[in-house]
Amino acid sequence: MLPLASLAANHASRVLPYLVVLAAIGSAHAQALPDPSRPVLTPVWETLSCPVRTAPETGDAASLMAFEQRQRYRDVLGTYLARLPEQVDMALLMPVPSVRVAQIADTYAAARDGGRSHEGQDVFAPRGTPIVSATAGLVYEMSGRFRGGRSVMVLGPGARRYFYTHLEAYAEGLREGQWVEAGTLLGYVGNDGNAATTPPHLHFGAYDFDAASCRFRAFDPLPLMVDRLPSAEAAAR
Ligand SMILES: [Zn+2]
Repeated sequence: MLPLASLAANHASRVLPYLVVLAAIGSAHAQALPDPSRPVLTPVWETLSCPVRTAPETGDAASLMAFEQRQRYRDVLGTYLARLPEQVDMALLMPVPSVRVAQIADTYAAARDGGRSHEGQDVFAPRGTPIVSATAGLVYEMSGRFRGGRSVMVLGPGARRYFYTHLEAYAEGLREGQWVEAGTLLGYVGNDGNAATTPPHLHFGAYDFDAASCRFRAFDPLPLMVDRLPSAEAAAR
């Protein structure tokens, strides 16, 4: 082996463990930028500056994930939010169109294990039932790293975040940074993640953005949810 190559190999063997640690912290997930063809609609968000946070020293997986999430908010969230309309949606399209809103048993804020409360609504449907976006927006993240397993996060008008989780599979070709309309296929109902012991369902969460703290806060989406309109009505909207 040439001395230089040997040096490089030796260096790699010393550096590799640190890289593994960094990957475990989550830097492996590079955040896609939003579709560059989208116009800037709400320029105020372009200057969003989320605070620098320090990594938890002995964090559990959940706090490391939250840290990583906020790091990426710092990096790219403003570029996403600026490309969304300022006005929030007054209605959310039922994300499992084959189920009616009236069939949802309201479980928002119900107690969950670990002292958590249920930050969303569950829509039960057979495995593989299509899930569509409740709003227009930009796909911010597609990942299986959440408690709910395979998930799609969409940023919508007015800096709201919508969370679709426990997916069986993603819609073919869907990608981070992509613009979607209300009704665009996102994926299929499953029971991934912490829904492994429950019947397949979509967990649908909705969040408002608090710019002062750079955090999203859950709200109950149910009062805003509407059934899919007949196509003639939808066309006239
Ligand atoms: Zn749920």
